[in-house]
Amino acid sequence: MTSIVKDTHTHTQIPQSLLQATEPIQDLLETASLYLHIPFCHTRCHYCDFNTFAGRLPLREPYVRALLHEIEMAGVMARHEDGRLRRARTMFMGGGTPSLLNVDQITRILNACFQSFAIDADAEITMEANPGTLDQEQLLGIRKAGINRLSMGAQSFDEELLKTLGRIHSPQEIVQAVEYARAAGFTSINIDFMFGLPNQTMQHWQETLKRALELRPEHLSLYSLIVEEGTPFQDWVNDGSIVPGDEDLCADMYEYADELLRQAGYINYEISNWALPGHHSRHNLTYWQNLPYIGMGTGAASSFAGRRFSNEREPLDYIKLVKANQLPEVESEDVGLAQAMSETAFLGLRTAMGLHLPTFATRFGQPFSQFVGDHLQDVEAAGLLEYEDDWLRLSTRGRLLGNEVFLRLLPD
Ligand code: SF4
Repeated sequence: MTSIVKDTHTHTQIPQSLLQATEPIQDLLETASLYLHIPFCHTRCHYCDFNTFAGRLPLREPYVRALLHEIEMAGVMARHEDGRLRRARTMFMGGGTPSLLNVDQITRILNACFQSFAIDADAEITMEANPGTLDQEQLLGIRKAGINRLSMGAQSFDEELLKTLGRIHSPQEIVQAVEYARAAGFTSINIDFMFGLPNQTMQHWQETLKRALELRPEHLSLYSLIVEEGTPFQDWVNDGSIVPGDEDLCADMYEYADELLRQAGYINYEISNWALPGHHSRHNLTYWQNLPYIGMGTGAASSFAGRRFSNEREPLDYIKLVKANQLPEVESEDVGLAQAMSETAFLGLRTAMGLHLPTFATRFGQPFSQFVGDHLQDVEAAGLLEYEDDWLRLSTRGRLLGNEVFLRLLPD
């Protein structure tokens, strides 16, 4: 497992006005972003530990029906006391592979959300897609249904590396999928790539980034490989048949990508995410700003009304619960004020833009400095934090130490 914390950019290049809440925090806290989980894949990639299932494609229609019912029940649960529908600013259909659903199924899911929630007219509505599953007609259909942002897992432009990862698509299909998406009218496209892969050289990585930039996606997410428990990758690492990139190579790859993307006009607004101006993911910012969200579908997590809860993970059990008119919630915890304050602070500090101090104070009725007390001075004195206008963020050294800074900041 490799974590990349090298900080090579100057923070001042982040246009903070873009990232700062455009409306009062108290209004944003009255909204909920929606996440919809589609747990089907053709085959499982060798590194994947997401809640997704291969070989269950016949379950798609029963699953969609259950999801429609859950959306309706969640809409009722989330209503305001006076009966108004809960407002949603973003929706994200993730997986798994949502692009394995047909246009009719995707349209029905979106329509159910439009009926059960008050979706903003300019909402960001993202769907994840696997380039090996897309065709022109389907993309035209989902664009028409209301999806306005596409997020594609491409991972690499190298044929051999794609095989090592167990991906079902070729490099050419990535290019083709982007062309289809553009022709269908998508003006906001994210592509994911991975680095630190077994046998991946710097040259592979440079070639992948070069080809990625030729497609000019509005957003790029670049992740270092994490070898997760229970995956084939973990077995192969344990028996020595694959060796992930070492930490130095990963750091060099990250640094190279950051420099290249900055020169190409992208802004590194979160450690793993780069966007052209105005194209940062509003949905992901919901998580990083610790704003409310409601997850629907198998294993989906929610943070809403002072609670964090998550759904049944197994599709058949999920369908059974929903058919019995039950919200398929299986785990839940109350989030107290101190926990909400810590989480908001630490999620914010993890991002490149940092924590917006006036927003924190307005949200919790207490300045951050008062919340963490003397710890703040200690951490500041150690050079782990830096201020810029109203923002507080980790310094380069602070980012290298990551979790240790958070532990030192925690109130007693
Ligand atoms: S396509 Fe995505 S969700 Fe499906 S197995 Fe591969 S990495 Fe996991």
